[in-house]
Amino acid sequence: MSFIESDERKQLRAAVAQLAAKYNFRDYAGPKARRNEPLDELWADAGKLGFLGVNLPEEYGGGGAGIYELALVMEELAAQGCGLLLMVVSPAICGTIITKYGTDEQKQNWLPRLADGSAKMVFGITEPDAGSNSHKITTTARRDGEDWILNGRKVFISGVDQAEAVLIVARTENAKTGNLQPALFIVPVDTPGFVKTKQEMDIIEPDNQFTLFLDDVRLPANALVGKEDAAIAQLFAGLNPERIMGAAMAAGMGRYAIDRAVEYAKERTVWKGVPIGAHQGISHPLAQVKIEVELAKLMMQKAAVLYDSGDDFGAAEAANMAKYAAAEASIKALDQALQTHGGSGLTRDVSLAGMLAAARIGRVAPVSREMVLNFVAQHSLGLPRSY
Ligand SMILES: Cc1cc2nc3c(=O)[nH]c(=O)nc-3n(C[C@H](O)[C@H](O)[C@H](O)COP(=O)(O)OP(=O)(O)OC[C@H]3O[C@@H](n4cnc5c(N)ncnc54)[C@H](O)[C@@H]3O)c2cc1C
Repeated sequence: MSFIESDERKQLRAAVAQLAAKYNFRDYAGPKARRNEPLDELWADAGKLGFLGVNLPEEYGGGGAGIYELALVMEELAAQGCGLLLMVVSPAICGTIITKYGTDEQKQNWLPRLADGSAKMVFGITEPDAGSNSHKITTTARRDGEDWILNGRKVFISGVDQAEAVLIVARTENAKTGNLQPALFIVPVDTPGFVKTKQEMDIIEPDNQFTLFLDDVRLPANALVGKEDAAIAQLFAGLNPERIMGAAMAAGMGRYAIDRAVEYAKERTVWKGVPIGAHQGISHPLAQVKIEVELAKLMMQKAAVLYDSGDDFGAAEAANMAKYAAAEASIKALDQALQTHGGSGLTRDVSLAGMLAAARIGRVAPVSREMVLNFVAQHSLGLPRSY
């Protein structure tokens, strides 16, 4: 493993940064988020430039690279305040799972369109009565001849209004309760019995969350991705990339916050011609968050390297740690950037307060801070499980 990025990766970083500059927070992403409008123009351009499908196989129109590169794209967008939340679900989770476990027909139908951004597929696992405990999900799939019938409820599913389909995590009806035996289904959003309702969130974000009701949703046999008793490995093929992408979005937001704070700390002067950045009460906390964001980014890169090399198990620990570290670092960085701005940090014009609330999503989703700590306590430290 090298700590020096290849020229190819550096070039990708520069190209994404150039696109992000066009769709930066102040001029584009911020006003869009306040209007609660998806970043469609950025999504379309990123798709045309091959950034959204950079991790998907070349034979299906992707870039043939890995999650490292997809995370790099996300980080560079988020570093200019225009991270794309649905990259976490469409190319990272759904694209990966279909690539690894989909039929040829599913690959041909979906991967080229996920890669160029012309179609989005979102991801639904969370349920009102299961929450962090995915083993308790009750959305069930039962056979009816060749077809499948799905019934259940989901909550907090991002981007359903923009998507052509949702990859739904269900359990087969006759699977024993207890440990989850997930079965994954591609559910087109226009299927009869599929009802979405927007959830009113109190965050400034371009993308919306939805509750879903699946009421006798009838699907053809080819809606199933992989095996019906696919076991947890198939699900984890998507969840590790999800955590790495969550870390990338947070690390990028942390960079954005530090850049804004440093700019201001260099120019704002209130004592004897010295900029506030000269006071260690301002510079040290910024240096500290810079270190924390960089460390989180390193762990994210380690997770991506492990994942791309096929070590799903090793990647799980690193991906959890990276998601934790990046979310915490970005929240702290935004809070410190806000403090650096004094009163203007709380103005609409500076927009750091709204972004701080959005950064807190990373502490809860895709897996909460506490569940990551549980994972590390149990798997990394070998401590007993309390739940
Ligand atoms: C903006 C946003 C977008 C989302 N997008 C999606 C999406 O696209 N698809 C999807 O499927 N889901 C999505 N989610 C759901 C997200 O993954 C869940 O909110 C998250 O996994 C936590 O589940 P919960 O909200 O039910 O919290 P709960 O599980 O009810 O937990 C509540 C609190 O208790 C803590 N807790 C629970 N169990 C334990 C324990 N054993 N030990 C210690 N503490 C514990 C949690 O950490 C948390 O702090 C999204 C959520 C948000 C906020």
